[in-house]
Amino acid sequence: MKIIDRLNEDKIHISFEVFPPKTDAGFDKVLDATDKIAALKPSYISVTYGAGGGTSKNTARIASHIKDDLGVLSLAHLTCASSTKAEVRSVIANLRQLGIENILALRGDIPEGMVFPTEDRFRYAWELVEEIKKYGDFCIGAACYPEGHVENEHKADDIRFLKQKVDSGVDFLTTQMFFDNDIHYNFLYRIREAGITVPVLPGIMPITSATQMKRSQELSGTVFPRRFLALLDRFGSYPEAMMQAGIAYATDQIIDLLANGVKNIHIYSMNKPEVAEKIMSNLSEIIRC
Ligand code: FAD
Repeated sequence: MKIIDRLNEDKIHISFEVFPPKTDAGFDKVLDATDKIAALKPSYISVTYGAGGGTSKNTARIASHIKDDLGVLSLAHLTCASSTKAEVRSVIANLRQLGIENILALRGDIPEGMVFPTEDRFRYAWELVEEIKKYGDFCIGAACYPEGHVENEHKADDIRFLKQKVDSGVDFLTTQMFFDNDIHYNFLYRIREAGITVPVLPGIMPITSATQMKRSQELSGTVFPRRFLALLDRFGSYPEAMMQAGIAYATDQIIDLLANGVKNIHIYSMNKPEVAEKIMSNLSEIIRC
């Protein structure tokens, strides 16, 4: 089944994300976390894609395990910056062979010191989207950035390029994490005004430690509101309390989004079934409405 058909249903959908192990040694642990997250019956589980080697192979393995063994829809991420066009084509062919119908098409970050762009690589995600479309009837998702992508100085350019990406064949968008819902509402207004009409899933990251917050900020450049910083300041040195507070903050963000008409939410659950379980339990009645 295609994720877009699910997103278009008139009900609330919650999805989670897992990431593959860096080496094969960690595979069973990730599988165990994936199985526990799948037991929560999310609308789908997405599997991130690392640059080359074992990680990229494991994305397809985990995505087909989710679909075939756990009976949950899976979304395989695919990045193109750190692979040649030939390598990317072979990954798409493999996904098709495994019966994976849903791909999140991404450029990926440019590894430091790498010469980019080059003739033998796709430069932007929209080129990858066009390529995937040549391989058959996939449902294609892509990334978007409510606070703007770090490489763009002007938000207007960001939205113009996003429109081009969507027009190349994107069925739905998932946002970068954000911690202030007003930023998301403002972004939605601007992209709808620009003629982008596909479903947009807000990506919510439950921050459960000070280290995770620092890493997230480095990766995404996101703004942490004062309300979140106060919570980190007060509970950051108490791991259990910080976990509770981080889950409560993410739950609060989700409830506000749902109350304001958002139907589909993606949660960056980061291989932490205990976090996914607590959020689902907090939402147990809300998601029935
Ligand atoms: P693009 O859409 O290609 O955009 C990249 C930059 O180019 C942007 O600044 C954009 O505005 C600009 N641009 C686009 N088109 C043009 C144009 N025609 N002319 C000039 N400039 C243009 N990374 C991973 O490595 N693995 C993952 O699994 C992964 N999953 C992610 C999931 C989500 C939901 C999100 C939000 C991000 C994810 N990322 C992942 C990170 C992502 O790969 C990086 O943010 C990357 O820097 C940009 O990828 P993109 O697909 O958005 O690129």
